[in-house]
Amino acid sequence: MAKITLDNVAHSYIAKPKNQTDYALRLIDNIWDDGGAYALLGPSGCGKTTLLNIISGLLTPSKGRVLFDGKDVTGLPPEKRNIAQVFQFPVLYDTMSVYGNLAFPLKNRGFNKPDIEKRVLEVAQILDLTDSLNRKAASLTADAKQKISLGRGLVRSDVAAILFDEPLTVIDPHLKWQLRCKLKQVHEQLKLTLLYVTHDQVEALTFADQVIVMYEGGIVQIGTPQELFENPSHKFVGYFIGSPGMNFLPCTIEGSQALVGDIKIRLNDQTAALGAAAKGKIELGIRPLYLEVHQTQVEASVPVIVKSIEDQGNYKIVTTIMGDNNILRARLPEGKPSPSEKAWIKFSENWIKLYSDDILLKN
Ligand code: ATP
Repeated sequence: MAKITLDNVAHSYIAKPKNQTDYALRLIDNIWDDGGAYALLGPSGCGKTTLLNIISGLLTPSKGRVLFDGKDVTGLPPEKRNIAQVFQFPVLYDTMSVYGNLAFPLKNRGFNKPDIEKRVLEVAQILDLTDSLNRKAASLTADAKQKISLGRGLVRSDVAAILFDEPLTVIDPHLKWQLRCKLKQVHEQLKLTLLYVTHDQVEALTFADQVIVMYEGGIVQIGTPQELFENPSHKFVGYFIGSPGMNFLPCTIEGSQALVGDIKIRLNDQTAALGAAAKGKIELGIRPLYLEVHQTQVEASVPVIVKSIEDQGNYKIVTTIMGDNNILRARLPEGKPSPSEKAWIKFSENWIKLYSDDILLKN
């Protein structure tokens, strides 16, 4: 497995790009560690596949270099890069047995029989395919076929990295969850460098140690699921991660308070100091989880109008309007009474973030 370095990589599908917007991938300068489980997460069109194809060698970047363990592979085609790829739809030999399919990538590379058998049995056991090893791939369900596809990617321990391009799209939701857990287990057991592309935050957050969030052709944050949830460094991360995403309120800072219209929200000393020094368009960000909903006024709470309440099973999402048409969503824990038309919301001071021109203000 390899450390992957993206050295000032950028890509445009236009022959003579003139400005930033002509680039599908803006400047990316990153190092991804050997043995890491990374998820590349972002909305459709943000450049995930472009980046994946640059790493696998299907695409040569317009600018910059790709290095595997320090070796420049930018000019190498996919077959010379030693990468395994798992695509959205299963790529299998239907007439071969499950064993044959799993063994194929190793046979192709001249591994000896005992080594092939050892590795195939190991991967089959992890993916619960041991009982189907002698069955023809054609006789299996779509889910099982995709499991074999995953297995074919995982079976090679000699690869620099394994790239997964939305591999669970065709999988039944229940099995999806199981397979995600399996992949995590595989990563822990086999210490592979895994790069997993998805637009689904749940997939990314449950699979990866590090999530790489992409937006409009750039990487806006790389972090653990907890870091992305607690400290979104870009407004897009706050909005994209979490269900629902972070609340954002345009504000000005006055002493130890944020003013949203004429509503005052108390800040802690550290946040107030950051706000006082900030320039640009300032917004207050807070996750629904860190808002307390009260039926009556409590200390440092603000009045809101309740618009709707959605029951999510073990909690409710209360959508409210605060002041001059600012939408504020709060998470109401199970067992707490639902407010009626009016409510009071208390902001958890230590979870208030300030953003200047979409970027988190921090020390
Ligand atoms: P999705 O999740 O929908 O696959 P993505 O995040 O993988 O999206 P890309 O497919 O990398 O995004 O696309 C990034 C941008 O580059 C988009 O604006 C897309 O229209 C453009 N693009 C992608 N492939 C090509 C191509 N072959 N020619 C021209 N433009 C392209």
